[in-house]
Amino acid sequence: MVRWGLIGASTIAREWMAPAIAAQPDCVVAAVASSNAARARAFAAEMSIPRHYGAVDELLAESEIEAVYISTTNEWHEQQVIAAARAGKHVLCEKPLALTLDGARRMVQACADARVVMATNHHLRNAATHRAMRKLIAEGAIGQPLAARGFHAVYLPEHLQGWRINRPESGGGVILDITVHGADTLRFVLDNEVREVTAMTASQGMGQAGLEDSVMGVMRFQNGVLAQFHDAFTARHAFTGFEVHGTTGSLYARDVMTQQPIGTVTLRRDGRDEDVPITHENMYERSVARFVGAIRGEGPPSATGEDGARSLAIALAVRESAQTGRVISVPAL
Ligand code: NDP
Repeated sequence: MVRWGLIGASTIAREWMAPAIAAQPDCVVAAVASSNAARARAFAAEMSIPRHYGAVDELLAESEIEAVYISTTNEWHEQQVIAAARAGKHVLCEKPLALTLDGARRMVQACADARVVMATNHHLRNAATHRAMRKLIAEGAIGQPLAARGFHAVYLPEHLQGWRINRPESGGGVILDITVHGADTLRFVLDNEVREVTAMTASQGMGQAGLEDSVMGVMRFQNGVLAQFHDAFTARHAFTGFEVHGTTGSLYARDVMTQQPIGTVTLRRDGRDEDVPITHENMYERSVARFVGAIRGEGPPSATGEDGARSLAIALAVRESAQTGRVISVPAL
């Protein structure tokens, strides 16, 4: 049994990750820590978690806990990941890993030094749709990829309209919230790295305190692919999608930038459309299963700490481009 500690009495832990851990045959959620003891107690009672703490250090002192899932707001991830690594815990951390690339580098280094597994919860890599697209592209089903388009413009649900839209110091704004996911999904599906980006942002009614709620831009990959992206908190009626266009075919995915295991993929070539068979799977359960496999030495987690650092580097470059009006090179790790 892998005993887990939850760091963060958060919505994502409640809605998806505590259930995803509990769904594993070989995992148990043993404890939860919050910065607020009453919130920890209430969360533990609601989720039937045996122990609760009002401080992270108390949870990290539990020797039986082997793995932690960190889902506090973004400004806390760095210090909590480093503390967990130093306590010898394997770490699955939420995106964006940190507020700065140096912060993400320190997290990755601390986990390497402590010889613990570090993973980033980029759930979209676990989608059967995106995995099918990656496989088809690698097999040459669309020839040489030339261009990609990602649409992750949604309406931020009311219960999430807190720090994301009004707290820059917590890493609010659509770029750190959604563009990191799009960047990771593009890297994963295309199996290539982003070289440079250009972007424009807007605040169209939701973003406050200078935070953007919409962004559009272009990423240039090392292999020459141009990828266009549109991420937003304000699009009430848009569908999400992901497309890759190659020399001999195109892949069209619909309703795939989501937490739900849904969506379709169509392969278009030689003037014909073909539905790609998809067996949907809960993405968060797969993320946990792969993480536990990594603890057992059975291969890497779905998204490593380095993957989280790379998606953050791309998102920060997108933000800098929007602020300066310049094309920004994505730094190496
Ligand atoms: P929440 O706002 O629900 O929770 C974040 C933190 O806010 C909690 O850890 C908690 O701190 C504090 N908090 C919770 N409820 C209250 C309250 N009533 N009053 C004051 N503070 C409160 O955030 P999300 O769950 O939406 O996001 C958490 C992290 O997960 C972020 O990093 C986000 O980017 C990421 N995320 C990832 C997703 C994915 O699919 N990979 C999806 C959604 C979010 P404390 O623990 O100290 O009590």
